Amino acid sequence: MKSQIQHIHQQLIDKTISCVDLVQEKLNLLKDNTHNTVNSLLTDVALEQAAKVDTKIANGETIGLLEGIPFGIKDVYMLQGTYATASSDLLKKYKSAYTATAIQKLLDAGAIPIVKENCDSFGHGSSSENTIFGAVKNAVNPELVGGGSSGGSAVNVAKDYTVFSIGGDTGGSVRQPAGYNNIYGLKPTYGRISRYGLMAYASSTDCVGPLAKSVEDIRIVLNAMSGKDTKDQTTYTSETIEESNILNTSDIKTVGYFKNFIESEAIDAQIKNDFLASIEKIKAKGIQVKELDFFKSDILVSTYYTLAMAETASNLSRLDGTNYGDRIDDKDLKESYAVTRSEKFSEETKRRIVGGNQVLSQGFSDEIYLKGLALRDAISENFEKDFEEVNIILSPVTPSTPPKIGDSLKDPLAMYLSDAYTVGFSLGQLPTLTVPQGTETGLQVTAAKNNDELVLKFANFLKDTI
Ligand code: GLN
Repeated sequence: MKSQIQHIHQQLIDKTISCVDLVQEKLNLLKDNTHNTVNSLLTDVALEQAAKVDTKIANGETIGLLEGIPFGIKDVYMLQGTYATASSDLLKKYKSAYTATAIQKLLDAGAIPIVKENCDSFGHGSSSENTIFGAVKNAVNPELVGGGSSGGSAVNVAKDYTVFSIGGDTGGSVRQPAGYNNIYGLKPTYGRISRYGLMAYASSTDCVGPLAKSVEDIRIVLNAMSGKDTKDQTTYTSETIEESNILNTSDIKTVGYFKNFIESEAIDAQIKNDFLASIEKIKAKGIQVKELDFFKSDILVSTYYTLAMAETASNLSRLDGTNYGDRIDDKDLKESYAVTRSEKFSEETKRRIVGGNQVLSQGFSDEIYLKGLALRDAISENFEKDFEEVNIILSPVTPSTPPKIGDSLKDPLAMYLSDAYTVGFSLGQLPTLTVPQGTETGLQVTAAKNNDELVLKFANFLKDTI
């Protein structure tokens, strides 16, 4: 698929469509949709902005590439004056006091936000069922989950309700729903895009990530959002990725994959066969393929969940009904905190807060939390060694196909294990992209830190290869 952003941009300039009509059409589709992708619509501001774009075009002024392009925002981002619910009961009526840097950069480029999108509450989940707005239904087969946690964002893109959407990826939440709904989804290198104004889940792996239908649109949106931000000290300065740089794929010579991922008993037989067939096609193009050793997936999952739960327990401690969200008053302050948090957080979020506080508590933190940190270092070292040998690491996005709606809620442990192939790359803070090809849930393309360009380049190569 070619760039939709460029296509719509051309239509706007040629006046074959008006921006108001375009935005209205998308708003109607969102309003009528039965996939539960919408938490709130931004109708008035969106139409107002669209009218301004039309006036500019009518006056013969030039417009930027993203100007007038309607997009969606996972409901964990701040956009001043609009609801930011995190799909939670606690923040159901909370309105953002300011705008996230990544979103502000898109607004500065003229893109038009039209919807706050359904997701797992606070990013906790892999199916977008942990939400007060109803389970998100898969774009391809509505009996299946939309994936998570950025499920609403992925389904909106897949169904063309938005041109692109901005998700958030802590342990796979952009890549996995992208795979489940057959689109592209990028988790950039940690720190390439500012997290300021993204509600913190696990701050050491949280990343802002675009979802779109083409590599080109991912590139355009990534460039618009990237850059150093004084409000997020983990950000760094990056160079714009030029289109011409990702078209020439001749400098990719070696690809690796983790043998134990593919030989695992947990992998679906079809996903395994499809992945190995893709590897053969890549070899046939003259690329050397190496098998790599890696940590067992259960070690990856337990390391990730130990650290992610510890971080989310700390991050969510500020939500006690005082400064943010709904408060339930009880006999004294302490009881009010307890009742508010017990009543207004979901079961899944409470499970993570309890687990996180447990691994951080005296008597456990050395044995569990510090061990998790040490394992994370070992995982990063392993990646560094791998990228001395190969340019790209390939993996299926998930070991299994999307579950039916309802199944993940019954078995949280099985849900955690379904993140086996995405969480390791998050712990390594690497750039990694879901390409909707190769297996039913797509291929995950990963490069060394700060090498986001190579990831996009390889995705272009795959378009002509498999
Ligand atoms: N499914 C993973 C989790 O629940 C990842 C979620 C995310 O990336 N926000 O932690």
